[in-house]
Amino acid sequence: MLRSIDHYIGGSSFASGERQSDVFDPNQGSVQAHVRLGTAADLERAMDAARAAQPEWAATNPQRRARVMFNFKALVEANMQELAELLSSEHGKVVADAKGDIQRGLEVVEYACGIPSALKGEYTVGAGPGIDVYSMRQPLGIVAGITPFNFPAMIPMWMFAVAIACGNAFILKPSERDPTVPVRLAELMKEAGLPDGILNVVHGDKEMVDAILDHDDIKAISFVGSSDIAQYIYSRGTANGKRVQAFGGAKNHGIVMPDADLDQVVNDLAGAAFGSAGERCMALPVVVPVGEQTADALRAKLIPAIESLRVGVSTDPDAHYGPVVTRAHKEKIESYIQMCADEGGELVVDGRGFKLQGHENGFFVGPTFFDHVKPSFQSYQEEIFGPVLQMVRARDFEEAVALPSKHQYGNGVAIFTRNGHAAREFAARVNVGMVGINVPIPVPVAYHTFGGWKRSGFGDIDQHGPEGVRFWTKSKKVTQRWPDGSADGGNAFVIPTMG
Ligand code: NAD
Repeated sequence: MLRSIDHYIGGSSFASGERQSDVFDPNQGSVQAHVRLGTAADLERAMDAARAAQPEWAATNPQRRARVMFNFKALVEANMQELAELLSSEHGKVVADAKGDIQRGLEVVEYACGIPSALKGEYTVGAGPGIDVYSMRQPLGIVAGITPFNFPAMIPMWMFAVAIACGNAFILKPSERDPTVPVRLAELMKEAGLPDGILNVVHGDKEMVDAILDHDDIKAISFVGSSDIAQYIYSRGTANGKRVQAFGGAKNHGIVMPDADLDQVVNDLAGAAFGSAGERCMALPVVVPVGEQTADALRAKLIPAIESLRVGVSTDPDAHYGPVVTRAHKEKIESYIQMCADEGGELVVDGRGFKLQGHENGFFVGPTFFDHVKPSFQSYQEEIFGPVLQMVRARDFEEAVALPSKHQYGNGVAIFTRNGHAAREFAARVNVGMVGINVPIPVPVAYHTFGGWKRSGFGDIDQHGPEGVRFWTKSKKVTQRWPDGSADGGNAFVIPTMG
């Protein structure tokens, strides 16, 4: 009997429904568990639990809500090894990288520990005669998060830590491909002191997502996943009157200027292009050397670095990266490799057909490197989301700025240079949401905010940090007057001014 991964509603596990989906062991290529695919009725059960718990949670003072976050942080740290191994066993990323996934989520939990301060409103004393104006931020009520497979710990924590600290109840719909860790996190939130019903996990596919999108009592939705789905979530959610932020796919470029330290670049690129098998929205799958000389020198250094990458099972402490998440995804990546070769890209290192002894059915893809890729290629324009690095040679700085700026995606970009002026110019002009200067994966820290542009982000408020607090709350503005009885009445028919 395979393990069944059930919903987590009102503080306990809830098994319901006939429909299930396979959860794989990507190292072996076998099915290791089944996850429930929920319905609108399952969602309603979670909504009932949330409705019962949310008003009291919202009325709990923010310091007490923060204490739950402090306890949760300590519990996640105490369970780090177990969580990382679980995560790695369903996703396929190596255990050290799984710990990073958890740690980057925990950093947002740390930010949420400061919620009393982050929620403080504004106050103007004496905005008019005897008049004060102040604002307060109030929770929205019941809110939801729909998350992708590639960061099953970090992205749920980015969302629920801030939303819950603000006083909301949260419905989490994690990816059906690696759903176990999100449930473990909800269990740990309960152990940390969170009242039942404030964090519920419902599993499912489009049917469950549509139920969330159409539910009148869900006031806001945060989504992270691929762009077509992000656009769908944004359109349908906002048409239903909800607040929606929806983050999509990516194709991040790394610009290499002629003066860059190439050894450093090769080291950074190997990790950023191939780490986590390229399944990161902030991976660097496109490298753009400026000038032929830079390109030739970089290529010469890159080839041995790529050929020496070690692909292994996700529990191998010496492996640079593990398998990809499913067989379907492996086949999709390999079809993009064929497409790029057919389009005229020079296939310098071919990772197809990679087999690991004892794990012949595992979902492994070897590192792949293309040179002479052109912006007109479909394989360049689309996201591959695998261990594939494409080199697009640029004539000069202008061409290098234009490539990521014109690309349909605008999540992250990096420039490698020793020239401060070029870097500054690049950061100011490039049409992309997050920029790294000699930093290959520029994911901003938790107390700043995260979000891409163009087809990488739909909506106008970003994830976590102060923007997260804005997203998960609504502001109320109060104008108060305490008359002392001496007023002459004035003209109440004219719009009041403070003049
Ligand atoms: P995905 O779009 O397949 O799935 C994301 C979520 O949407 C899952 O919970 C899934 O169940 C749900 N979903 C899938 N198909 C649906 C449908 N037809 N209708 C409604 N809901 C549906 O994405 P994924 O493969 O899990 O994740 C990888 C993608 O996420 C990549 O494109 C990656 O770039 C992107 N991503 C973006 C960011 C970012 O911040 N911009 C971060 C991480 C991942």
